[in-house]
Amino acid sequence: MPRIQQLTPSVVNKIAAGEVIERPASVLKELLENSVDAGATRIDVSLEKGGSEVIRVADNGCGIVADELPLAIASHATSKIRSADDLFSVRTLGFRGEALASIAEVSRLVIRSRTAEADSGAELEVVGGVANPAAPIGCPIGTTIEVRNLFFNTPVRHKFMRSAQTEMGHSVEALTRLALAHPQVHFTLSHNGRMMHDLPPVPSIRGRIAAFFGDELANDLIEVHSSNDGVSLSGFVANPMHSRATARMQYLFLNGRAIRDRALQHALGEAYRGLMLTGRQPICFLRLEMPAELVDVNVHPTKQEVRFQDSGRLYSLLLGTLRTKFLSTDLQARGSASSAAGMGPIGTDDASAGPSELVNWAKEQLGRQVAQQSSITFPQVTESRVPPYRPHEPLRLHSLDEPRRATVDVGSGVARPNVGPAEPTADDSGSAGSGTLSATHADVRFDAVHDRLPAPRGLAAMQNALQVHDRYLVVETEIGLEVIDQHALHERILYEQIREKVLAGAMESQKLLVPEPVDLTATEAAAALEHADVLATLGVEIQPFGGETVLVSSYPAMLANLSPAEVLREIVDKLLGGGRQPETRDLIDELLHMIACKAAVKFGDRLSPEEIDALLTQRHLAQDQHHCPHGRPTALIFTREDLDRQFKRI
Ligand code: ADP
Ligand code: MG
Repeated sequence: MPRIQQLTPSVVNKIAAGEVIERPASVLKELLENSVDAGATRIDVSLEKGGSEVIRVADNGCGIVADELPLAIASHATSKIRSADDLFSVRTLGFRGEALASIAEVSRLVIRSRTAEADSGAELEVVGGVANPAAPIGCPIGTTIEVRNLFFNTPVRHKFMRSAQTEMGHSVEALTRLALAHPQVHFTLSHNGRMMHDLPPVPSIRGRIAAFFGDELANDLIEVHSSNDGVSLSGFVANPMHSRATARMQYLFLNGRAIRDRALQHALGEAYRGLMLTGRQPICFLRLEMPAELVDVNVHPTKQEVRFQDSGRLYSLLLGTLRTKFLSTDLQARGSASSAAGMGPIGTDDASAGPSELVNWAKEQLGRQVAQQSSITFPQVTESRVPPYRPHEPLRLHSLDEPRRATVDVGSGVARPNVGPAEPTADDSGSAGSGTLSATHADVRFDAVHDRLPAPRGLAAMQNALQVHDRYLVVETEIGLEVIDQHALHERILYEQIREKVLAGAMESQKLLVPEPVDLTATEAAAALEHADVLATLGVEIQPFGGETVLVSSYPAMLANLSPAEVLREIVDKLLGGGRQPETRDLIDELLHMIACKAAVKFGDRLSPEEIDALLTQRHLAQDQHHCPHGRPTALIFTREDLDRQFKRI
């Protein structure tokens, strides 16, 4: 039997280093945090080979008393907390007293430091955890820490270091986070002797965002600010035309510390839902400030994750703030050739990403001749002339005070017996008339909605629309002309209407006289039956029918142009689509998209004047008429002035 033995401090430190120090960037992060904690107003960073050879951080902070230098590199030695109780009121970035000990264990480290009171400074050198005696040295007030040859004595770790370029990327990221979290501090960064960033103190981080990510993004930020019960949220989110393939550009700072939080990331995604192409991630730079007691930062060795006392409230605060902001902001797709030129990828994660994608798309849609004539620029889209639609009653999913509850309501299923439609207008579902788009496309009735919401004035003038190529509607407006994607717009309108109905438990379904058996594979049948409740909220009623057969007894009235089997197959595709178990809320949303897409007029459908009329009239009923549910724009606007300019009339 092996005997139990106490590990030596050196082994303990190596183990701790394994947790905290993954690569040069982790060292840089710890050193920067110490400098910020020391109250530095200026921090100079120099790196060699991305930090794998040298990481030097010099600050003008409070310094370390000469006698205490050996303690600074001892494990579990800190000046930041005294007792366990202090853990719940930490205002500093560090408190574990482990970083310097860990770093010193796996590198050659030199600390030079001087406090304001001392006449001279002191220097301490540690090689692989073994310290030489401290010696006096002349140096300015503050601390300089130099870390060379990281992992020189831990070959396994050393092997995991990547190219200087990769390590540099991570190091810049570490600096970015600290510099965004602490705009009051002057930071500089030089690499291999070359100055890369000089960031003087700034009142707003917009300037720092520009320095790290370029003006293009910085100019398209939406400022947000709100507070609730001692918790404040402030910062910037990007216009939805900017997006990324990953969540990497979602910067979230809690009391000056960069954190990752899945719930808050989710809230962010929810806020942008429908404004962005599916699969894309929004960009944000948001600061949360709250009393230290409301959060436990001691749950993760590098403190990247924290535990909130009331994460539900933060979720609501974030989602509510952004939704309110977006409702009052014109997020209409913009694009100009001049800005497109500068719209290169900002991150390295996705060269095909972002705004250029949107502009390219728009160009494609408008025809190649236009795009190829370099003299023709895309006009800047100007404010839409019709005021944004404001629902008389708040949309249920958008309920700003209680976004959380609203989603829970969906999740728990607002299933209602769908024997026949609920709305008074249900019986004349097939009838044509004003407000009915077309019985051939979909039996969608807007009469009920019309009763509540009289169409905005002045619409009559808009009705002389021209349909081109069976896909676009060209409309003269007061400021110029508008090119509308008929499918995208109709899809958006239907999506919002269906969503409202589903959330109200009032989705019209059509009961089949003879339920239709649909043959599926075993996996498909299981998936469908498992989600029977969710499907019921969408008006799709199914039962097991033995084996792999599922019986459809009712399905959404507006999908009358499809067979029940087609509808079920589409749904099953969505259920099994992602390869993962989707959350109920996401699932419902996907199915709403699917239904809206199927029910909407197609790209390529010839529309009658009445249909065009109905579509344009209903346009103003959509809360976000500028984007289809997938986030594509529904319309492009060309101002008269722009046209005049293109034709050289002005
Ligand atoms: P922690 O930051 O968790 O306290 P560290 O190992 O990072 O632990 O640092 C140990 C101690 O060394 C700190 O508590 C602090 O007193 C001192 N120290 C480290 N870096 C600096 C610095 N740049 N300026 C002043 N004091 C520092
Ligand atoms: Mg520290």
